[in-house]
Amino acid sequence: MKRKISILFLLISLCVGSVFANNSKPNNTNNDSVAIVYFIKDITPENVLKLYKAIGMEMKGKIGVKIHFGEEGNKNFLNPELTKPLMQYTKATWVETNVLYVSKRRFTDSHINLAKEHGFTFAPIDILDKDAEIEYQTQGMGLKHYKKIKAGSHFENYDGYIIYSHFKGHGSAGFGGAIKNVAMGFASPGGKMAQHASDVPVISDASKCIQCSNCINNCPAHALSYVENVITIDKDKCIGCAKCIAECPKKIIKPENTNLESNVFLERLVEYAYVFTKKKPMVYINVLANISSSCDCSARAPLPFTQDIGMLGSVDIVAIEKASHDLVAKGHKCDDAFLKESGVSGMGQINYAEKLGMGTIKYKLVEIK
Ligand code: SF4
Ligand code: SF4
Repeated sequence: MKRKISILFLLISLCVGSVFANNSKPNNTNNDSVAIVYFIKDITPENVLKLYKAIGMEMKGKIGVKIHFGEEGNKNFLNPELTKPLMQYTKATWVETNVLYVSKRRFTDSHINLAKEHGFTFAPIDILDKDAEIEYQTQGMGLKHYKKIKAGSHFENYDGYIIYSHFKGHGSAGFGGAIKNVAMGFASPGGKMAQHASDVPVISDASKCIQCSNCINNCPAHALSYVENVITIDKDKCIGCAKCIAECPKKIIKPENTNLESNVFLERLVEYAYVFTKKKPMVYINVLANISSSCDCSARAPLPFTQDIGMLGSVDIVAIEKASHDLVAKGHKCDDAFLKESGVSGMGQINYAEKLGMGTIKYKLVEIK
């Protein structure tokens, strides 16, 4: 069986080169190796397609649009209507993977039903891990944390991906944009667990707990309980999924390590994204709207802390994240809006991704009217 899988991966590796050849060359960088990031201010369905065309790398073959369908109760996820012209033009499929925590998005059927309830009705939906999990070996890639990564098996079924990301805050990653959409979004639940492993959160101030039990009810590992009337995390049971961080209305559950230099979770996230970006051609669209401190996995995401900014498009995942981060910071009149709002900086994602050679933080913003 192992031998068959190895042969399959060898064939897949050989095919990746030809897939790149089939996709038209992007207008990515200028002569000084500065990545081009396209910007459109008005967030409309027509402009999403305009931005995709401007990026200059039109996908051929079977295309997946990696998207987030929004957690039940979440009000901030992106309106699916925004993608309508893009989906029609590319004849693409919306792709996602099941999550780790207690949610309708944990199982394929209820996940698809929720997506439809949220308006994702006019294109096919593929939950990439619905049949099986596959592994990619990472030897020779220079990674610190993984010898293999785990993906939904349908990841192999597509010739290229449009990574359509809602750029907003995230409880443990600082922000969630293209890197997180790729890293967590293509990972099987086993891969998600591997990224979160040892990421046990802490209760920062139990005296502020209102005993709403949101964290207890959403914990997939039954790791939270009241011990002598005080909310407590059992570190031996916790799988580090971070769901409790997103669900606490008092924001007293926090990642243990928010230090920029040693936030290992961010490195794990980037390493997963790195492997996926090596396997398939990808282009990136970030939508900077409904920007709150929590992600779309939160049923109770707070209201946005800044105004909508616009949309960015690029073939460079590092440049688009840096440009998005800079624009949100500028809109919020500070250096790091997510650090200011949630106490967690996501800059480690950008810095480590550049260190791995995934792209450059040097970018030129080109506005499209
Ligand atoms: S206690 Fe651990 S397993 Fe439970 S929700 Fe929080 S992070 Fe996830
Ligand atoms: S979600 Fe927050 S406020 Fe509610 S019980 Fe858990 S720790 Fe307390």
